[in-house]
Amino acid sequence: MAKKARDNSSSDIFSMLLETSKKEEKKKRAGLLKQLGVKEFFVEGSIRIDSKVCRGLECKLCIDICPTNALYWQRGKVKITEELCIYCGACVLACIVDDCIFIERKRSTGETEKFSKPNEVPKLFNSINGKKRRERVKSIFPRVEAYLERYLLHFS
Ligand code: SF4
Ligand code: SF4
Repeated sequence: MAKKARDNSSSDIFSMLLETSKKEEKKKRAGLLKQLGVKEFFVEGSIRIDSKVCRGLECKLCIDICPTNALYWQRGKVKITEELCIYCGACVLACIVDDCIFIERKRSTGETEKFSKPNEVPKLFNSINGKKRRERVKSIFPRVEAYLERYLLHFS
């Protein structure tokens, strides 16, 4: 029984430490991005680069395009300072190979997006823009009849 209580209390301390380090990481990240004047659009995210797929020596396009300088070249590999990554996807769009840079990100609405191929990025933008357009139209014309009356019916 005493052992169980001890196990529980060490797992509590472990989760507290984990929580604190996460908070500190978030604070450090917010401070760095503020200094750069960069806005965050996602509540969470992760990025991973597969160095076996990367053609870094002949490429390095992702490093050139990254708006926050989160990517850098070290010892023959593309490295990342994750605190500086805002999961914008520009590096995936610029990458010359598929499934090299993997991004997963979460919006404040709870929606998650995952991509690792350059051609997935424009598709994602299109679907986001399409959704925004639909929302805009819906706010102006909550009913389809209102749209038809204004733009179509009076020409007939
Ligand atoms: S997702 Fe954006 S911020 Fe992050 S490494 Fe790629 S280009 Fe840089
Ligand atoms: S753009 Fe892709 S292939 Fe080129 S260096 Fe970056 S990760 Fe490697």
